[in-house]
Amino acid sequence: MSATIGYPIDLHLHSTYSDGLKSPEELCGAAARLGLYAIALCDHDTVDGLAPMAKAVARLNAGGALPQPLRFIPSIELSAGSDGHIHILGYGANPRSPSLTACLHAAQTDRTSRAARILARLAALGIALDPDLLDGLKSPAIGRAHIARAMVKDGVVNTVQQAFDRYLAQGKSAYVPRKLPSAADAVSLLKDAGAVVVLAHPCRLSLGDAALNALIKELMGAGLDGLEIYHPSTSRTAVRRLEPLARRNDLLVTGGSDYHGDANTRVSMAHMPSGWLSWAEDLEALLSRVKHT
Ligand code: AMP
Ligand code: MN
Ligand code: MN
Ligand code: MN
Repeated sequence: MSATIGYPIDLHLHSTYSDGLKSPEELCGAAARLGLYAIALCDHDTVDGLAPMAKAVARLNAGGALPQPLRFIPSIELSAGSDGHIHILGYGANPRSPSLTACLHAAQTDRTSRAARILARLAALGIALDPDLLDGLKSPAIGRAHIARAMVKDGVVNTVQQAFDRYLAQGKSAYVPRKLPSAADAVSLLKDAGAVVVLAHPCRLSLGDAALNALIKELMGAGLDGLEIYHPSTSRTAVRRLEPLARRNDLLVTGGSDYHGDANTRVSMAHMPSGWLSWAEDLEALLSRVKHT
Protein backbone atom coordinates (compact mmCIF):
# COMPACT_ATOMS: atom_id res chain seq x y z
CA MET A 1 0.00 0.00 0.00
CA SER A 2 1.32 3.43 -0.84
CA ALA A 3 1.34 6.36 1.57
CA THR A 4 -1.98 8.14 1.31
CA ILE A 5 -3.34 11.62 1.98
CA GLY A 6 -6.88 12.88 2.55
CA TYR A 7 -8.90 14.36 -0.34
CA PRO A 8 -12.33 16.03 -0.35
CA ILE A 9 -13.87 13.19 -2.38
CA ASP A 10 -14.12 9.41 -2.17
CA LEU A 11 -15.48 7.55 -5.18
CA HIS A 12 -15.25 4.02 -3.76
CA LEU A 13 -17.04 3.13 -0.52
CA HIS A 14 -18.69 -0.06 0.77
CA SER A 15 -21.66 -0.30 3.14
CA THR A 16 -23.41 -3.01 5.15
CA TYR A 17 -25.38 -3.77 1.96
CA SER A 18 -22.27 -5.72 0.87
CA ASP A 19 -19.12 -6.31 2.92
CA GLY A 20 -18.73 -2.90 4.53
CA LEU A 21 -19.27 -2.42 8.26
CA LYS A 22 -20.97 0.99 8.13
CA SER A 23 -24.57 1.67 7.15
CA PRO A 24 -25.27 4.30 4.47
CA GLU A 25 -26.27 6.70 7.25
CA GLU A 26 -22.99 6.10 9.11
CA LEU A 27 -20.98 6.57 5.91
CA CYS A 28 -22.77 9.88 5.27
CA GLY A 29 -22.09 11.01 8.82
CA ALA A 30 -18.40 10.21 8.43
CA ALA A 31 -18.26 12.00 5.04
CA ALA A 32 -19.91 15.06 6.58
CA ARG A 33 -17.44 15.10 9.47
CA LEU A 34 -14.58 15.02 6.96
CA GLY A 35 -16.22 17.83 4.97
CA LEU A 36 -16.27 15.82 1.74
CA TYR A 37 -17.75 17.21 -1.52
CA ALA A 38 -18.62 13.94 -3.21
CA ILE A 39 -18.93 10.26 -2.38
CA ALA A 40 -19.86 7.14 -4.34
CA LEU A 41 -21.21 3.88 -2.95
CA CYS A 42 -19.78 0.88 -4.81
CA ASP A 43 -21.19 -2.16 -3.01
CA HIS A 44 -20.34 -5.58 -4.47
CA ASP A 45 -23.07 -7.09 -6.63
CA THR A 46 -25.97 -5.10 -5.21
CA VAL A 47 -27.79 -1.82 -5.79
CA ASP A 48 -29.88 -2.23 -2.64
CA GLY A 49 -27.90 0.34 -0.63
CA LEU A 50 -28.15 3.10 -3.22
CA ALA A 51 -31.65 4.39 -2.37
CA PRO A 52 -30.96 4.45 1.42
CA MET A 53 -27.67 6.24 0.73
CA ALA A 54 -29.32 8.82 -1.56
CA LYS A 55 -31.91 9.41 1.15
CA ALA A 56 -29.26 9.81 3.86
CA VAL A 57 -27.35 12.31 1.71
CA ALA A 58 -30.55 14.26 0.92
CA ARG A 59 -31.38 14.42 4.64
CA LEU A 60 -27.89 15.68 5.43
CA ASN A 61 -28.06 18.32 2.70
CA ALA A 62 -31.51 19.47 3.84
CA GLY A 63 -30.21 19.87 7.42
CA GLY A 64 -28.30 22.98 6.37
CA ALA A 65 -25.30 22.23 8.60
CA LEU A 66 -22.87 21.47 5.78
CA PRO A 67 -20.65 24.23 4.35
CA GLN A 68 -21.43 22.84 0.87
CA PRO A 69 -23.84 20.16 -0.32
CA LEU A 70 -22.53 16.59 -0.46
CA ARG A 71 -22.75 15.07 -3.95
CA PHE A 72 -23.70 11.40 -4.14
CA ILE A 73 -22.92 9.16 -7.09
CA PRO A 74 -24.60 5.74 -7.11
CA SER A 75 -22.29 2.95 -8.26
CA ILE A 76 -21.67 -0.76 -8.11
CA GLU A 77 -18.61 -3.04 -8.11
CA LEU A 78 -18.76 -6.25 -10.14
CA SER A 79 -16.15 -9.00 -9.90
CA ALA A 80 -15.14 -10.58 -13.17
CA GLY A 81 -12.65 -12.92 -14.79
CA SER A 82 -11.95 -16.55 -14.02
CA ASP A 83 -10.44 -15.89 -10.58
CA GLY A 84 -12.65 -12.89 -9.75
CA HIS A 85 -9.69 -10.54 -9.43
CA ILE A 86 -10.85 -8.06 -12.07
CA HIS A 87 -13.24 -5.57 -10.50
CA ILE A 88 -15.35 -3.25 -12.60
CA LEU A 89 -17.09 -0.14 -11.25
CA GLY A 90 -20.28 1.16 -12.88
CA TYR A 91 -21.14 4.75 -11.94
CA GLY A 92 -24.74 5.81 -12.52
CA ALA A 93 -26.03 2.49 -13.85
CA ASN A 94 -29.79 2.26 -14.24
CA PRO A 95 -30.69 0.08 -11.23
CA ARG A 96 -33.74 -1.22 -13.11
CA SER A 97 -31.81 -2.39 -16.17
CA PRO A 98 -33.13 -5.94 -16.85
CA SER A 99 -29.70 -7.32 -17.82
CA LEU A 100 -28.05 -5.79 -14.74
CA THR A 101 -30.86 -7.09 -12.51
CA ALA A 102 -30.42 -10.59 -13.95
CA CYS A 103 -26.64 -10.43 -13.48
CA LEU A 104 -26.98 -9.28 -9.85
CA HIS A 105 -29.54 -11.97 -9.13
CA ALA A 106 -27.16 -14.64 -10.49
CA ALA A 107 -24.23 -13.18 -8.52
CA GLN A 108 -26.22 -13.12 -5.27
CA THR A 109 -27.44 -16.70 -5.72
CA ASP A 110 -23.87 -17.79 -6.42
CA ARG A 111 -22.56 -15.86 -3.37
CA THR A 112 -25.08 -17.56 -1.08
CA SER A 113 -24.30 -21.09 -2.26
CA ARG A 114 -20.56 -20.39 -2.29
CA ALA A 115 -20.67 -19.09 1.31
CA ALA A 116 -22.30 -22.39 2.36
CA ARG A 117 -19.54 -24.29 0.56
CA ILE A 118 -16.83 -22.21 2.26
CA LEU A 119 -18.41 -22.89 5.66
CA ALA A 120 -18.54 -26.61 4.85
CA ARG A 121 -14.86 -26.57 3.92
CA LEU A 122 -14.00 -24.80 7.17
CA ALA A 123 -16.11 -27.30 9.11
CA ALA A 124 -14.20 -30.14 7.41
CA LEU A 125 -11.02 -28.48 8.70
CA GLY A 126 -12.46 -28.56 12.22
CA ILE A 127 -13.52 -24.91 12.20
CA ALA A 128 -17.23 -24.83 12.97
CA LEU A 129 -18.26 -21.19 12.98
CA ASP A 130 -21.13 -20.05 15.13
CA PRO A 131 -23.79 -19.05 12.55
CA ASP A 132 -24.90 -16.25 14.88
CA LEU A 133 -21.58 -14.55 14.17
CA LEU A 134 -22.29 -14.43 10.47
CA ASP A 135 -24.27 -11.18 10.24
CA GLY A 136 -23.54 -11.18 6.55
CA LEU A 137 -25.49 -14.41 6.03
CA LYS A 138 -28.53 -12.16 5.86
CA SER A 139 -26.95 -10.08 3.10
CA PRO A 140 -27.51 -11.24 -0.48
CA ALA A 141 -23.97 -9.99 -1.09
CA ILE A 142 -22.40 -12.30 1.51
CA GLY A 143 -18.70 -12.64 0.83
CA ARG A 144 -15.42 -13.81 2.22
CA ALA A 145 -15.01 -10.62 4.28
CA HIS A 146 -18.08 -11.57 6.36
CA ILE A 147 -16.69 -15.05 6.95
CA ALA A 148 -13.23 -13.67 7.76
CA ARG A 149 -14.69 -11.32 10.38
CA ALA A 150 -16.69 -14.18 11.92
CA MET A 151 -13.45 -16.18 12.14
CA VAL A 152 -11.84 -13.30 14.04
CA LYS A 153 -14.83 -13.04 16.42
CA ASP A 154 -14.71 -16.79 17.01
CA GLY A 155 -11.00 -16.61 17.81
CA VAL A 156 -9.96 -18.86 14.91
CA VAL A 157 -7.58 -16.19 13.61
CA ASN A 158 -6.38 -12.86 14.96
CA THR A 159 -7.09 -10.68 11.94
CA VAL A 160 -9.16 -10.62 8.76
CA GLN A 161 -5.93 -10.62 6.78
CA GLN A 162 -4.86 -13.82 8.55
CA ALA A 163 -8.20 -15.45 7.65
CA PHE A 164 -7.56 -14.69 3.98
CA ASP A 165 -3.88 -15.65 4.09
CA ARG A 166 -4.51 -18.97 5.84
CA TYR A 167 -7.93 -20.10 4.56
CA LEU A 168 -9.91 -17.87 2.21
CA ALA A 169 -7.53 -16.51 -0.43
CA GLN A 170 -7.26 -18.20 -3.79
CA GLY A 171 -5.33 -21.46 -3.44
CA LYS A 172 -5.98 -21.78 0.31
CA SER A 173 -7.86 -24.66 1.90
CA ALA A 174 -11.32 -23.05 2.18
CA TYR A 175 -11.21 -21.11 -1.11
CA VAL A 176 -14.22 -21.59 -3.34
CA PRO A 177 -14.28 -19.79 -6.68
CA ARG A 178 -17.31 -17.92 -8.00
CA LYS A 179 -19.06 -18.17 -11.33
CA LEU A 180 -18.29 -14.84 -12.95
CA PRO A 181 -18.60 -13.07 -16.28
CA SER A 182 -15.50 -12.19 -18.27
CA ALA A 183 -14.21 -8.67 -17.65
CA ALA A 184 -15.26 -7.57 -21.16
CA ASP A 185 -18.77 -8.95 -20.59
CA ALA A 186 -19.01 -7.11 -17.23
CA VAL A 187 -17.99 -3.86 -18.97
CA SER A 188 -20.55 -4.39 -21.78
CA LEU A 189 -23.30 -5.21 -19.31
CA LEU A 190 -22.67 -2.06 -17.26
CA LYS A 191 -22.47 0.03 -20.44
CA ASP A 192 -25.82 -1.39 -21.55
CA ALA A 193 -27.20 -0.33 -18.16
CA GLY A 194 -26.04 3.23 -18.93
CA ALA A 195 -23.10 3.28 -16.51
CA VAL A 196 -19.80 5.10 -16.72
CA VAL A 197 -17.48 2.11 -16.47
CA VAL A 198 -14.15 2.20 -14.63
CA LEU A 199 -11.54 -0.50 -14.04
CA ALA A 200 -11.15 -0.66 -10.24
CA HIS A 201 -7.74 -0.73 -8.52
CA PRO A 202 -5.68 -1.86 -11.55
CA CYS A 203 -2.61 -2.53 -9.40
CA ARG A 204 -4.47 -5.14 -7.35
CA LEU A 205 -4.29 -7.29 -10.47
CA SER A 206 -0.51 -7.66 -10.03
CA LEU A 207 -0.07 -7.77 -13.80
CA GLY A 208 3.08 -6.74 -15.63
CA ASP A 209 2.93 -3.59 -17.76
CA ALA A 210 2.31 -5.46 -21.02
CA ALA A 211 -0.50 -7.62 -19.62
CA LEU A 212 -2.18 -4.67 -17.92
CA ASN A 213 -1.95 -2.58 -21.11
CA ALA A 214 -3.48 -5.46 -23.08
CA LEU A 215 -6.34 -5.80 -20.58
CA ILE A 216 -7.04 -2.06 -20.67
CA LYS A 217 -7.06 -2.11 -24.50
CA GLU A 218 -9.41 -5.08 -24.52
CA LEU A 219 -11.78 -3.42 -22.04
CA MET A 220 -11.66 -0.15 -23.99
CA GLY A 221 -12.94 -2.17 -26.92
CA ALA A 222 -15.92 -3.15 -24.75
CA GLY A 223 -16.53 0.49 -23.78
CA LEU A 224 -14.34 1.12 -20.71
CA ASP A 225 -14.50 4.79 -19.69
CA GLY A 226 -11.87 5.13 -16.99
CA LEU A 227 -9.22 3.85 -14.61
CA GLU A 228 -9.33 4.05 -10.82
CA ILE A 229 -5.78 5.25 -10.48
CA TYR A 230 -5.93 6.95 -7.07
CA HIS A 231 -6.54 3.86 -4.92
CA PRO A 232 -4.46 2.87 -1.88
CA SER A 233 -3.05 -0.10 -3.82
CA THR A 234 -1.46 2.14 -6.48
CA SER A 235 2.18 3.01 -5.77
CA ARG A 236 3.58 6.42 -6.71
CA THR A 237 5.55 4.71 -9.48
CA ALA A 238 2.40 3.10 -10.83
CA VAL A 239 0.52 6.43 -10.68
CA ARG A 240 3.28 8.00 -12.78
CA ARG A 241 2.87 5.28 -15.39
CA LEU A 242 -0.91 4.82 -15.38
CA GLU A 243 -2.12 8.42 -15.22
CA PRO A 244 -0.45 9.47 -18.52
CA LEU A 245 -1.70 6.21 -20.07
CA ALA A 246 -5.26 7.09 -19.04
CA ARG A 247 -5.02 10.68 -20.27
CA ARG A 248 -3.42 9.65 -23.60
CA ASN A 249 -6.35 7.30 -24.19
CA ASP A 250 -9.05 9.78 -23.10
CA LEU A 251 -9.93 7.60 -20.14
CA LEU A 252 -11.35 9.20 -17.00
CA VAL A 253 -9.09 9.21 -13.95
CA THR A 254 -10.93 8.35 -10.72
CA GLY A 255 -9.99 7.69 -7.13
CA GLY A 256 -11.43 6.13 -4.02
CA SER A 257 -10.26 4.60 -0.78
CA ASP A 258 -12.25 1.32 -1.03
CA TYR A 259 -13.23 1.97 2.58
CA HIS A 260 -14.99 -0.99 4.23
CA GLY A 261 -15.12 0.45 7.75
CA ASP A 262 -12.71 -2.10 9.21
CA ALA A 263 -10.67 -0.96 12.17
CA ASN A 264 -7.01 -1.98 12.27
CA THR A 265 -6.43 -1.51 8.58
CA ARG A 266 -4.55 1.31 6.95
CA VAL A 267 -7.55 2.28 4.82
CA SER A 268 -9.22 5.55 5.81
CA MET A 269 -12.15 7.22 4.12
CA ALA A 270 -11.06 9.66 1.38
CA HIS A 271 -7.37 8.72 1.73
CA MET A 272 -5.66 7.99 -1.56
CA PRO A 273 -2.12 8.26 -2.96
CA SER A 274 -0.75 11.80 -3.06
CA GLY A 275 -0.43 13.78 -6.28
CA TRP A 276 -4.03 13.86 -7.52
CA LEU A 277 -3.87 17.53 -8.39
CA SER A 278 -6.80 17.42 -10.82
CA TRP A 279 -9.32 15.63 -8.59
CA ALA A 280 -11.85 18.47 -9.04
CA GLU A 281 -11.67 18.42 -12.86
CA ASP A 282 -11.69 14.62 -12.90
CA LEU A 283 -14.77 14.58 -10.66
CA GLU A 284 -16.54 17.04 -12.99
CA ALA A 285 -15.61 14.91 -16.02
CA LEU A 286 -17.13 11.85 -14.32
CA LEU A 287 -20.25 13.73 -13.19
CA SER A 288 -20.81 15.14 -16.67
CA ARG A 289 -21.07 11.59 -18.02
CA VAL A 290 -23.14 10.01 -15.26
CA LYS A 291 -26.74 9.58 -16.41
CA HIS A 292 -28.60 8.01 -13.47
CA THR A 293 -28.20 9.65 -10.10
P1 AMP B 1 -15.52 -11.95 -2.29
O1 AMP B 1 -16.18 -10.83 -3.06
O2 AMP B 1 -16.48 -12.69 -1.42
O3 AMP B 1 -14.71 -12.87 -3.17
O4 AMP B 1 -14.50 -11.28 -1.29
C1 AMP B 1 -13.64 -10.29 -1.75
C2 AMP B 1 -13.61 -9.18 -0.71
O5 AMP B 1 -12.90 -9.65 0.40
C3 AMP B 1 -12.91 -7.94 -1.20
O6 AMP B 1 -13.82 -7.02 -1.73
C4 AMP B 1 -12.33 -7.39 0.07
O7 AMP B 1 -13.31 -6.67 0.78
C5 AMP B 1 -12.02 -8.63 0.86
N1 AMP B 1 -10.64 -9.16 0.68
C6 AMP B 1 -10.16 -9.83 -0.39
N2 AMP B 1 -8.89 -10.21 -0.18
C7 AMP B 1 -8.57 -9.77 1.05
C8 AMP B 1 -7.39 -9.84 1.84
N3 AMP B 1 -6.29 -10.46 1.42
N4 AMP B 1 -7.43 -9.27 3.05
C9 AMP B 1 -8.54 -8.66 3.50
N5 AMP B 1 -9.67 -8.55 2.80
C10 AMP B 1 -9.69 -9.10 1.58
MN1 MN C 1 -15.09 -5.90 -0.36
MN1 MN D 1 -12.49 -4.42 -5.46
MN1 MN E 1 -14.30 -2.26 -3.46
